[in-house]
Order: sequence, then structure tokens, then C-alpha cells
Amino acid sequence: MTFSLRCHVCHAPFPATALFVCDKCMGPLEVHFDYDAVKLQISRESIAAGPRSIWRYRPLLPIEGEPRTGLHSGFTPLVKADRLAKRLGVRELYVKDDSVNHPTCSYKDRVVSVAATRAVELGFTMFACASTGNLAGSVASHAARLGLDCSVFIPDNLEPGKVTGAAVYNPRIIAVRGNYDDVNRLCTQVADQYGWGFANINLRAYYAEGAKTYGFEIVEQLGWTLPRHIVSPVAGGTLLPRILKGINEFRSLGLVEGEEPRVYAAQAAGCAPVVKALDEGLEFPDPVKPDTIAKSIAIGNPADGFQVVSAIRSTGGAGAMVGEDAILDGIELLAETEGIFTEPAGGVTVAATKQLIERGVIPPDESIVICITGNGYKTVEALHGRGPVPIHIGRSLADFEAAMGTQAGGQR
Ligand SMILES: *Cc1c(COP(=O)(O)O)cnc(C)c1O
Ligand SMILES: [Zn+2]
Repeated sequence: MTFSLRCHVCHAPFPATALFVCDKCMGPLEVHFDYDAVKLQISRESIAAGPRSIWRYRPLLPIEGEPRTGLHSGFTPLVKADRLAKRLGVRELYVKDDSVNHPTCSYKDRVVSVAATRAVELGFTMFACASTGNLAGSVASHAARLGLDCSVFIPDNLEPGKVTGAAVYNPRIIAVRGNYDDVNRLCTQVADQYGWGFANINLRAYYAEGAKTYGFEIVEQLGWTLPRHIVSPVAGGTLLPRILKGINEFRSLGLVEGEEPRVYAAQAAGCAPVVKALDEGLEFPDPVKPDTIAKSIAIGNPADGFQVVSAIRSTGGAGAMVGEDAILDGIELLAETEGIFTEPAGGVTVAATKQLIERGVIPPDESIVICITGNGYKTVEALHGRGPVPIHIGRSLADFEAAMGTQAGGQR
């Protein structure tokens, strides 16, 4: 086996089972690879010859046997966003678009594919999660395909599209009266008492590794080069540090050369523990009580907050928090310029990028990748009352022309 677990803080080694906290210092456990062994198994050519999914990077993912699910997850488009770049006043901008990830239209299909495969390998029959919405749908979908029992725990105020998007796969859905942080606390107890496999709790070390593929793909899709700046939304803090971890694995394996990119956190002002920690010079974010329409990233006490803050500081990045109106403007700006419909989390990322450029934190003449992680069709109610309303007319050309205010035979 080429991987094991290791404490992020004190580096104590652990076997690759469903462990997630260090019994010596309470630090989080992470997957550690034997990179000398991995190096023999991976090259640009082997990756290019692999499947068009996250599993093309399999030597850097923590499974022992064959991938069990996510055979079409990942390898999402990296869109060169020239019209958005122009609006933001920058030269080179890309959108890494996980709003079209398979099968549940968010970045979560990457992390769940790895956690679910590992859950099967470790003998779990119940696959579960604590979710802000997208994770519930992804866990339920992958569990259905694998024939696993499934329980998803959510806050009881989620958007209907997110609840239906999980319910359709027929899991047990437990809506907890409380916010995500209450849900997560309960799930930690359930994992302990019932021995269920929770994607983002006791299987979290494996789950987190799946997020590295977001970074791997950015590098490969940029023709094995590195962008200068990457803006990522932050919820529990899995994605942002793993994008960097993935990129640094590629750098240390000699798969790509160049300077480490700067990474930036995008959060809603109504839930910005990481941005506040950066501003206040804290190592560990202080928990906040979330209040924002960006529900999928409304986590007040991020499990990996420390890793996010240290990743940003070590690369010379920064954070930006944006208000509710700016989130909706961000959704519309991405839609109008690039034809991509994202959910409020994506609106946060677009608005935060705009702010970082306006503040002069991100310079206009260097390459930028923004991380669009969720799909707008799940949260249509967020845009209620905005945008053009349909013009209702009768069935004749005269009705149309009357509505247009033109005359028959007139100019188009
Ligand atoms: C889960 C999620 C994120 C990021 O969450 P992390 O816990 O920080 O990895 C970002 N965007 C969307 C849409 C999500 O569902
Ligand atoms: Zn430790």
C-alpha cells in the first residue's frame, strides 16, 4: 500500500482506517503517500492515457483496489473566460466549472467518489454525511449506485432543490433543528456510537484527498503550467488547501514547474470565519453564527479552518467577504458573460474575485483561476424577482409586434 494516515500537527503515524483525530494531540489526520512509490506509477503520459475522470490521478488517490464509483466524476471544463475577464479588467481568467460535475452537479462528486470507494474497502455498509446541501445529494447518489445504505443529515432550513436533490435517491434524510455546526456535532457522536461511515467525518482524510483532483485538473488543463492566482470558496475548508496540496504534489513529483500559485478565500460576509481570522491575524478561526443565502458554504466553525488560513498565508494570498446583494450580482455577472449558471456559493466566488481585483490585491496582468463549485439550477429561488420577466403575448405576429412596439414591416 502506498498510503497511510498521519497527524497534520504532530506527524504521528496511523494505519489507513476510519480514524480522523490524533489520539496524542487531537490534530486532524491526513493521508500520507509514499511518494517514491507514487513517482514510479505516474507521469504526464500515464495521466493523459487514463480515464476522463478523477481516477486518471489514481496513484495520488487513497484507495487500494479498483475505483468503485465516480467513474465520470471530475475532468470538468476549464473555461477561458474572456468576456468575464474584460468586465473585471484583467487579462487572463479561467473558470474551473464544477457546476457540471457528474453525477450531482457540484465539486462534492470528487470527494465523495474517493470516500465512498474507501468506505466499501473498509467494510462500511452505511454511508452517511453531515451536509450543507450538495454533499447530501452526492452521498445519496453514490450510495445508490454502490447499493449502500445511506443516511444524510442536514440543517432543517435547506433550499427545497437541495432536499429534493438528495431525496430522489431514497436515503434516510435527517433534518436537524439547528445550523450545520449543530448537525456536524451530532454526526460526530453518531459515527462514534453506530459505527457508520461518514464521508466528511470518520472518512474525512480520504474525502479530502478527492479535492486535490480540482488542483490536478487546473494544472493539466492549463497545458501543464501553473496559474498565478486561484480564488476558491471556503466552507468546511476541504477544497482550498487541497487544491494547493495537489499542485504541490505535482511540483514535487516533477510533473509541473514554476512558482506556487497564490490562493484566496471567498466567503459570504454572513459567514466569514476564515476571512476574519486572516484580518485579525489568528491561526485558528473563531466560530461565527452563519446568516447568508450562500447556504452551501454556511459553515461557522470550519473543520479545516487552520489549514485554510495557513495555505493562504504561506502563498501570500488573501481573503475577501461579500454581501448578499454582491452574491446575486456575482451569479448574474457569470451568467451574462460566460453563460454559466452557478449557485450562491459561485456568486460569492465571482464577487470576491471582483473585490480582490478592485482592491489591487490581484493584479490585472497575471493569470487567474476561479473555482465555480455548484450549479444554479438547485437554488433558483435565490434569484426570485430578479432578471427580465417574460413578456406575455398572444399567438399572432401582430401581438408580437404590439409588444415590441414596432409596426408591421418596420425595422427589426
Ligand atoms: C462544499 C462546497 C464548497 C466548499 O466546501 P469546503 O468544505 O470548504 O471544501 C464550495 N462550494 C460548494 C457549492 C459546496 O457545496
Ligand atoms: Zn497529533
